[in-house]
Parts: sequence; structure tokens; C-alpha cells
Amino acid sequence: MTIRSYDDVPVRPANLAGPAPEFPWPDGKRAAMMLSFDVDAETYATSKDPAHAERLVSMSYGTYEARVGMPKVLELLRELGLKATFFTTGWAADAHPATVEAAVKDGHEIAHHGYHHLLPDPGSAHIEDELAMGFDALKRRFGIRPIGYRAPYGESCDELRIALKREGIVYSSSWRDDVRPYRQVLPDGAPGVIEIPATASYDDWMHGMSTRFGPRSIFPKEHVLSMWKDELDEIRDWGAMVTTVLHPQVSGRPMRLRLLRNFLTYAIECRDVWIATGEQVARHFETCERADEGVAS
Ligand SMILES: [Zn+2]
Repeated sequence: MTIRSYDDVPVRPANLAGPAPEFPWPDGKRAAMMLSFDVDAETYATSKDPAHAERLVSMSYGTYEARVGMPKVLELLRELGLKATFFTTGWAADAHPATVEAAVKDGHEIAHHGYHHLLPDPGSAHIEDELAMGFDALKRRFGIRPIGYRAPYGESCDELRIALKREGIVYSSSWRDDVRPYRQVLPDGAPGVIEIPATASYDDWMHGMSTRFGPRSIFPKEHVLSMWKDELDEIRDWGAMVTTVLHPQVSGRPMRLRLLRNFLTYAIECRDVWIATGEQVARHFETCERADEGVAS
């Protein structure tokens, strides 16, 4: 499909929010990292084609997450004393409850990542169902009403943004357009949820996964560690933040876990990086925003 008329694309920024406020980080930290994982499990395959459900080797890439990836990632986080956010599909909560339960027991944040990991494309029929079923699975299994949301495939649209606000979601972590959190502005000008933008270079899938239907070269630790350190070091100079988009089915594989251990150890040793969950970042943002409004009024 190509542009048929010059009226097809509005001539204005897609994001109407103003510049992100430069709030200071807690405890005098210089920069922040939202440490987060996406628990897609086998929906990585079935969200593209439900027929994959019967292709058992295709499914097995995702099954690695419950069998090995999650336990290994949780063990690493315990070892390093870190808490993270796990954006969990409702399907993974229903199909692998014990795996997700282990993250809950370790005190990590569980957030919303759709049910079948279906792309929230503008106008698609499943936007409301994916939201409702994802909420239902997390409530039914773990008694959790999440406050964070990451869009499957990282896509978003106005219908979804309005629904997130209505459903009491506090923050989304899907967009790629900033290095600090900011508040979304809805189409009618009303304030939306807080956006904690994701950092594309910290998507482990891009550098560390090759599957039957997504074959690509994977990169060794030296390359990825160098990228991840450079990104963090520059962000420390900027006093801004990064947000990881890791997947236990990728980073829970042996050499990728070694890479992640190396990177997180580096981030901890920097001593000036606040490593936090999405909920912690969002609550800190709210506190600063309220203080700011108090000063302004
Ligand atoms: Zn995902």
C-alpha cells in the first residue's frame, strides 16, 4: 500500500506529548535502568500463526523459557540481588503458572503483555479482548492487577492508549522515542499513562536468537556487551535512562546468560545507575510530577 492522497498522512508529530521532564533520580543516582523481561513463551510463534501450535519444534523454542530460561534468569537476579519487571502474556500465565509464580515469589513485578501476544494494530478486532483476557489470567492465577503494560511487538495505537488509561494502567513501556519517562497525551488532549520508553538496542532477540522461521546470525558476547556498555555509559553522561527488552527464552540460554551476567555486573559496579522495576520508575515519576505541579500552582 502506498500513499494515494496527500491527506492520507497527517502532517504533525505522531506523539503530541511535550519534552520529557528532567526529574532527578532517587538517592543521587546519575542514571537509571528499568530492568525488564517479556515472557512471551510459545506465543512468540502462535501469535503469528496458530497452526504453529502443532509444529512441536517451532513451539519448543518458546517452551525453553518455562523449562530452563525463567529459572536461570531468576537465579541470576537472586545472585545479583536485583528486582525486575516481567511483562507476561496471559497465555504464559495459564500454560506455565508455576514458572510465573516463581517470579512472583521472588518479589518481581508482573505486568501486562497481552494474552496471545497479538499485535495491537490500529482497528484490529482483538485489542479489547487481549487486554481483558490478560488482566483476567493474572488476576485468576496470581491475584495480581498489573499497573504496567508493554505492547506485544511493541506496537501501539490511540484505541489502545485510551483503553490502558481507562483500565487503570499507570505506565506503558512500548515506545522508542525518548531516553526519559514522560506522560502521554491522549487525542483529546487529556493526560494519558506514563510512557517509559523501551531501548531498542537492549532487545536481546535482535542479537541473540535464531529460530526456524526467523533465521539470522547471532552476535557474540564481545559485540553485544560492547554495545550495551556504550549505550549505558553515554546515558550516564546524559543523566537519562535505558529500558531493557529481554526475553528469558533468549537471555536464559547459556551463553546469553553469561552475557547478561557480565552486563548487569558492570551496571551494578558503575554504582551510579538506579536499577529499578517499571513500577518503581513510574511511582518515582508520579512523585516528581506531583511535586512539580505543587511548585507550579
Ligand atoms: Zn513480547
